[in-house]
Amino acid sequence: MLRKGFLELAGSDGVRRILTGTPVTRAMSQRFVPGERVEDVVAAIRTAADSGLAATANYLGEAVRSPDDARAAAGVYLDLLQAVEDEGLQTHASLKFTQMGQDISDAFLEENLTPVLERARATGTFLRFDMESSAYTTRTLDAFESLWNRGWREIGVVLQAYLKRTAGDVRRMIDLGARVRLCKGAYAESPDVAYTEMPRIRRNFVELMEWLMADGVYPAIATHDESLISAAREFADRRGIGRDRFEFQLLYGVRRDLQVQLIEEGYTVRVYVPFGDQWYPYLMRRLAERPENLAFMVESLVKESPLGFLWPRR
Ligand SMILES: Cc1cc2nc3c(=O)[nH]c(=O)nc-3n(C[C@H](O)[C@H](O)[C@H](O)COP(=O)(O)OP(=O)(O)OC[C@H]3O[C@@H](n4cnc5c(N)ncnc54)[C@H](O)[C@@H]3O)c2cc1C
Repeated sequence: MLRKGFLELAGSDGVRRILTGTPVTRAMSQRFVPGERVEDVVAAIRTAADSGLAATANYLGEAVRSPDDARAAAGVYLDLLQAVEDEGLQTHASLKFTQMGQDISDAFLEENLTPVLERARATGTFLRFDMESSAYTTRTLDAFESLWNRGWREIGVVLQAYLKRTAGDVRRMIDLGARVRLCKGAYAESPDVAYTEMPRIRRNFVELMEWLMADGVYPAIATHDESLISAAREFADRRGIGRDRFEFQLLYGVRRDLQVQLIEEGYTVRVYVPFGDQWYPYLMRRLAERPENLAFMVESLVKESPLGFLWPRR
């Protein structure tokens, strides 16, 4: 119920307008979003690198319908790639096709994206196209494949284990030779297209993950679910798949203990670091995944406020 409620809030414009105006919600989001500016994400990438974590930076935004906004988003990615290079850092970047103008037209998308692809190639930066709701799955994969067929190779895509169609999409990406990030999926989907029971989603995740690890190219296992992380490690050990042939990905601010533990065990761990002022739907999705985050964020907020001394010590 709570999950559904937060996912509905993620899509509600009216509630977004009210909540994003409050400093309280903004302060709460800082746990998951290091800041709004390129320099904030660059600082987070540096801190991550200092602790042995790789990063993928995401400028928050989706469903952009104005050409100016889509051009501005592409401009932020160009600034990001430049800043990362100037600082002598390395990162991946995660983008959404609808942020780059897919809803305007395919021609606009291509024109807007090309400078980002060129800059990424020049700086050796890998670009990952996030997966959005099921209304966009086919369009995302088609747009991705069309870039691939035009010779762009420093790119990868995301597939969601909760969708019933995903086995076919895994086959398609393995045949293409493209890198896949596998996650459970974060949108409110109908039972017609998605598994809704967690044990069934986990079973599908494990099957798809094993397939990608055995036959795919450097898959990214994106989850905080320890049963899935254990399944990946055990499968790799059983099949003699080296730790350099896949990586784990986790979200910025989520399970920092697990991030450190995996690095200490010799795995590559990449954190997904979002930034920008469109943090509201992102925050709601994190609350949907774990409603306890709400209590956790309120607690941090109160503890760090002048009234912090009132919070009971544990
Ligand atoms: C790197 C990365 C990229 C992603 N990209 C996409 C994408 O392109 N498209 C898409 O639809 N989804 C994406 N997701 C989100 C994903 O689909 C899930 O919604 C999300 O990861 C939660 O599922 P889970 O497998 O981590 O585990 P869950 O079953 O949600 O959680 C397992 C355990 O992890 C911990 N945990 C999980 N979430 C949180 C949290 N927010 N805060 C604190 N603890 C938590 C809790 O201890 C929980 O018990 C991405 C996730 C990651 C990690």
